[in-house]
Amino acid sequence: MDAFFEEGSLVAILTTQPLDRTLDYKAPAGGCFQGAYVEVPLGPRKIMGVVWGPGKGDFDISRVRSVNRVLDVTPMQGELRDFLCRAGDYTLTPMSAMLRLATRAPGLSEAPSLRKIYRLGIGEPDRMTDPRRRVLEVLRDMGGLSLTLGELAEAAGVTSSVIKGLVKQGAVSEEEAPRDTAFARLDPDYGGKALTDDQETAAQVLRAAIASGRYGTTLLKGVTGSGKTEVYLEAVAATLRKGRQALVLLPEIALTAEFLTRVEARFGARPAEWHSGVTMTERRRVWKQVSQGGAQLVVGARSALFLPFRDLGLTIVDEEHDTSYKQEEGVLYNARDMAVLRASIGAGQVVLASATPSLESWANADAGKYRRLNLTSRFGASVMPEMRAIDMRGQDLPSNRWVSPALAAQVRARLEQGEQAMLFINRRGYAPVTICRACGHQVGCPHCDARMVEHRFLQRLVCHQCGETTPKPAACPECHAEDKLAAVGPGVERLAEEAAELFPEARLAVLSSDLFGSARALKDEIEKIARGGADIIIGTQLVAKGHNFPLLTLVGVIDSDLGLQGSDLRAAERTFQLMRQVAGRAGRAEKPGTALMQTYQPEHPVIRAILSGDEENFWKAEAEERRAAGMPPYGRLAAVILSSTEAQEAFDLGNAMARQDAPLRKIGAQIYGPAPAPIARVRGRHRVRLLVKAAKGVALQPALSAWAAQFRLRGELRMAIDIDPQSF
Ligand code: ADP
Ligand code: ZN
Repeated sequence: MDAFFEEGSLVAILTTQPLDRTLDYKAPAGGCFQGAYVEVPLGPRKIMGVVWGPGKGDFDISRVRSVNRVLDVTPMQGELRDFLCRAGDYTLTPMSAMLRLATRAPGLSEAPSLRKIYRLGIGEPDRMTDPRRRVLEVLRDMGGLSLTLGELAEAAGVTSSVIKGLVKQGAVSEEEAPRDTAFARLDPDYGGKALTDDQETAAQVLRAAIASGRYGTTLLKGVTGSGKTEVYLEAVAATLRKGRQALVLLPEIALTAEFLTRVEARFGARPAEWHSGVTMTERRRVWKQVSQGGAQLVVGARSALFLPFRDLGLTIVDEEHDTSYKQEEGVLYNARDMAVLRASIGAGQVVLASATPSLESWANADAGKYRRLNLTSRFGASVMPEMRAIDMRGQDLPSNRWVSPALAAQVRARLEQGEQAMLFINRRGYAPVTICRACGHQVGCPHCDARMVEHRFLQRLVCHQCGETTPKPAACPECHAEDKLAAVGPGVERLAEEAAELFPEARLAVLSSDLFGSARALKDEIEKIARGGADIIIGTQLVAKGHNFPLLTLVGVIDSDLGLQGSDLRAAERTFQLMRQVAGRAGRAEKPGTALMQTYQPEHPVIRAILSGDEENFWKAEAEERRAAGMPPYGRLAAVILSSTEAQEAFDLGNAMARQDAPLRKIGAQIYGPAPAPIARVRGRHRVRLLVKAAKGVALQPALSAWAAQFRLRGELRMAIDIDPQSF
């Protein structure tokens, strides 16, 4: 039970101010409960905070101020408070930053107001100006959703008078903001499909787990198209019947639209949505409804995990192996692991769904920590695609050509039969390298240790690390020779150019995140392809995830070896996952599919494992290697990234840290480095990395804190600690 604090008693308030402690205040008139959101004075300002517990009493009591007021929102429950504490301890994140994650809805402290909202009107503006065009574009991209005046003005970069002008002419419509209404009820019995025996068996296990009302995690493994989604929607239904809430995490916003349609078909109404594309007004509504139970199901990105669920009974992590679940900036956390943590605190169930699980989850299932469910065959008549290698060593391709004659012939055969083919390359842009043919200079980013990648569509060079872009120079920046800059290597745009020459009759669709201004434009394109509006799909990683193209029967992977280069221990795992995912796009309807992998190393063990589909053996071999090296998931790893504008400064601190390692030696941990980080310079900052390796089961985080606390960060130096880093 949450404690109650009488008026005038001391309470500890957690705020989002970057302090490393709570602040004492006196409880306001009428008292307050633990967990209440309150407004407190801080210096001349008023800020929002949460009643965290009894006051510490270590301030001069005569100077302790009173809480101004209790805000009219549902108090934060003990479950979420615990979760924030434990997630903060795990990721070594200050509590103020954890609280920020949980209160990312704007205007929580405002009274439900009579604010106006704006959407696209039917009138035409008398005169089109650039600011006006931007306003209309923003609203069009919102696809019927409305924005407040402030949001719209900010998104379009205009003053509110521009918007008011458009309202007068009817081009923009102005309405009263709706109250924060609950979401339509979802009906668990609305549209369920008859499950196959395999699916039903899996669904039964999940239903029983949900009925238990206890914590548990299940790895739901199954080839693409085997009905994992159908099965976990049954688990959602069971959760709704129990009156608890459910959360579905997706790795990519682009997948949301397709998924929402599916939820609507299954439950008769749309769920709440939570990701960066959701308007501020809607976010505020979702946040409140989630806390009051007016949202039964949330579909969203990793940050949805920090919403104030009243009773979260089930979390699905779809495509659980996906690296985008790891937040790489600010608070460094892995949403998959945090979902498990939150469920274990709140007596919830977690379902990790994937065709190609992460080695971590595979190992947890193997060790019996997670339940394991397998769907081994595709639904209906569709079967897994046949996978074959094309040995590129004998192909004799002319320079700047990447599609082998063998692959081209297969593509042609599909086109003749009215089927679709996909060409996959995991490289955005036109060409990865721009080189001067006079002096050999390679154009690099001025701020990062990365090459500038040519993007013909944008007509610019782009740094994929920091986003820096410049027009493509006419002369070499180094030797100033004119017209000597040449594109080297293939990117998705260049592959599209080659495909246009090879298959002049075919309609091409190029899917790469750079080519779409909005999630909506991408969704439209994906729907068009699914309806047969293209013959050849050319794409990057974006196409490997989840989309269903029924007419697609051939997938050609241009460069299967790409991910195997480099020294990352996870390279094999990543390549295996990506290749299996891409191949899984083919033959999802009645017609069988084929996946052809162009490779220069057909004997490589990873390529062989991918082709044979012998997954268990692949995982076992990978697991053995990691176990022998004491690497995750069989050992623990943390990365310390030191950065500064001066490389030497970062190295000096790194060396000092490597020497003064007493707290780490105490737990038997080893330190590697300092060495340049995998990306040694980003946005003008030099980055140096130390890796800390420890045995499983030791208290790594407290040792890391004690170790890091020995050092002062002066001037430009910054330190970030990444527990369970993605690359090692
Ligand atoms: P996965 O999530 O494993 O990729 P899905 O759940 O998306 O698989 O299923 C693949 C396709 O097969 C979807 O179009 C889905 O609607 C259909 N499907 C799967 N199981 C059934 C079923 N029992 N009855 C009808 N359609 C099904
Ligand atoms: Zn850069």
